[in-house]
Amino acid sequence: MAIQTIGVIGAGQMGNGIAHVFALRGFNVVMQDINSDFVAKGLATIGKNLQRGVDKGKMKPEEKDAVLSRILTTTSIEDFKNVDFAVEAATEKWEIKQQLFQTLDRVCKPGVILASNTSSISITKLAAATKRPEAIIGMHFMNPVPVMQLIEIIRGLATSDATFKTVMELSAQLGKTPLACNDSPGFISNRVLLPMINEAIYALYEGVAGVESIDGIMKLGMNHPMGPLTLADFIGLDTCLFILNVLHEGLGDPKYRPCPLLKKLVDAGWHGKKSGRGFYDYSGEKPAPAL
Ligand code: NAD
Repeated sequence: MAIQTIGVIGAGQMGNGIAHVFALRGFNVVMQDINSDFVAKGLATIGKNLQRGVDKGKMKPEEKDAVLSRILTTTSIEDFKNVDFAVEAATEKWEIKQQLFQTLDRVCKPGVILASNTSSISITKLAAATKRPEAIIGMHFMNPVPVMQLIEIIRGLATSDATFKTVMELSAQLGKTPLACNDSPGFISNRVLLPMINEAIYALYEGVAGVESIDGIMKLGMNHPMGPLTLADFIGLDTCLFILNVLHEGLGDPKYRPCPLLKKLVDAGWHGKKSGRGFYDYSGEKPAPAL
């Protein structure tokens, strides 16, 4: 089956980015969210991001309009009955995704592949919620989607070779680099990244160094584009804690236990950049260490 129309669930940070890159590469997109404000906001973000390309002279205004014209928005998954491929990028909660996959399985044509952009939920478990486990796969885009090159492709226990091959090819059609791994807590990206972030938080917690030293040492010394505490603020401290809990519970190894300081910041509502405060305070012109 030729893939022409893509259904994207969720018009949030990741969902609108995924819709953006598919439409940019000529696919028709149906982007769905739970209410019309969310889909309108998602579409406006895509427009704004495309406009940046126009302003830089990388895209003509009529190309931007053509990309936007390929994106239909809806609040009903029933509108996915004609899609050839679906990607789910809804809120990271098992109950939400379980229900969405059951609905997608009912609505989408037989044989249509259903991918999830989940950062930490088991693809094998999501597949078991459907009657087409062979067609369920993880397609873990990185944030911001239009900019980042990688898509981590996660094979669940039942994912077929045909599904895997189609998704690898589709990712390449998006101009991205797909790299594969098997289903396991945190996949590769978060299993390697989050322990580093957690260790940086422990170093702060134990008074080994301050926020700026820890970030500066890792940034300049390891040639990382940003320090681990800045990155944690960018990802969201609530998300970091959630993923560390998935690693801790899923792998059962105490080396993944979240630092008490991370738990404290999340309890305080200091969730990083999105809440205006995390390891840094974002209320001024430049982020300033908040601890
Ligand atoms: P977000 O909060 O920006 O967007 C989530 C969207 O899902 C919201 O607009 C919400 O209204 C919508 N939603 C919730 N329930 C829904 C339902 N039943 N049907 C349709 N839409 C529903 O979150 P996000 O950062 O875009 O994350 C989405 C997914 O992407 C999560 O699984 C997350 O783990 C994953 N992810 C996030 C990042 C990141 O850096 N933010 C990176 C990779 C993967």
